[in-house]
Amino acid sequence: AEAEALYVDRRPESLAAHRRAEKVMPGGNTRSSLWSDPFPLCVASGKGCRITDVDGHTYVDFLGEFTSGIFGHSPDAVATAVAKALADGINLSSHNRLEIGLAERIVARFPSIDLVRFTNSGTEANLMAITLARAATGRSRIVVFERGYHGGVLSFPPGGSAATAPFDFKVLPYDDLEAASAAFAEDGDIAAVLVEPMQGAGGCHVASRDFLLGLRRLTEAAGAILIFDEIQTARMSVAGCQGRLGIRPDLTTIGKFFGGGLAFGAFGGRRDLMARLDPRRADALGHAGTFNNNTLTMAAGIAAIDAYLDGAALEALFDRGEALRRDLQAIFEAAGAPYSVTGLGSIMTIHATHAEDATALRRLLQFDLLAGGHYIAQRGLIALSLPVGEAEISALLDAVAAFLEARTETIGASIQTVG
Ligand code: PLP
Repeated sequence: AEAEALYVDRRPESLAAHRRAEKVMPGGNTRSSLWSDPFPLCVASGKGCRITDVDGHTYVDFLGEFTSGIFGHSPDAVATAVAKALADGINLSSHNRLEIGLAERIVARFPSIDLVRFTNSGTEANLMAITLARAATGRSRIVVFERGYHGGVLSFPPGGSAATAPFDFKVLPYDDLEAASAAFAEDGDIAAVLVEPMQGAGGCHVASRDFLLGLRRLTEAAGAILIFDEIQTARMSVAGCQGRLGIRPDLTTIGKFFGGGLAFGAFGGRRDLMARLDPRRADALGHAGTFNNNTLTMAAGIAAIDAYLDGAALEALFDRGEALRRDLQAIFEAAGAPYSVTGLGSIMTIHATHAEDATALRRLLQFDLLAGGHYIAQRGLIALSLPVGEAEISALLDAVAAFLEARTETIGASIQTVG
């Protein structure tokens, strides 16, 4: 309560913004994932790895826009490319060379992607990939996994409040190959399996390679389509998580940072499947979208890939994240604190491990880190961006250690109350 009171006291302008927002948007919110109790921060600006809220507090941005912000804020190469695209005229009512350039770069990075199509979001990319798989197989069912998140209408929280998109989903436990084998054994109508190699929004749970290889085998044997949702995990190497794992899905969806930080999504994969979208075909599957090839995103994506996303940069980012996750885990273990960390490379979630008190423990950690100038999501997500360096990381580790020391009593009491 005291930590929350401090949060509220120091942020009158964020609170005023929230009150204004509530009058015109449900919950004052146009993006459910940004809701944060008691009211979210309203951020005025960002540069590099830092953001400044409307009350004038500056934070190191460890959230990294839920992984889209891998470049930090307004990186020079992207800003320059977008300014040029703006000057050259937007909404051109036509194809443009920028979309070809971005498509070429994506196809060159992913061996599994022969052809690619752009969308405006990751959600749309997944909706299109599913639609394509159903059209290609003539089957209806889509296998997804508990805690999977593929977009606002494609979200599968545990306990089963199902997706709102009108598809015939079968929800299976994640990382459970036996359950997947059983599903294929009894169901001949599976069109596709849609899977995140690591569940991002679901809490940064990493699938075993055996599970993903097993899905590859099962789908292949059944003539079903394997779709990797790499919207978050594409950052794990030049060719995404599939590149690290050496697994070739039939279709892949990407999004987030590949648009240089602007609104973006894409789906791509096997030539024979993607060919269904060729508008010259009599049985062509329609995929329009006014902004699919918008020049701002296309230009930003090209600039970002060329300037920032080479293999060495992604490898270094991966290693930095692995080290941070290990160091955080070590701090929690040494203190016997009720927190743990899961994830892969530069994306991780700090979990509060006492289920009954998890919300309070998560909020306490977030409030204290915010007070020290470290911005993480209330649900514990950290997504490192390229400009976050050793100094920022070591300051975060110090802040977490200081938090555990300062809050020993509160945390201890909460553990005892929980029993
Ligand atoms: N798939 C995954 C794995 C995601 O993490 C997200 C977004 O967080 C999406 C799909 C949806 O992408 P978008 O928010 O661009 O619609």
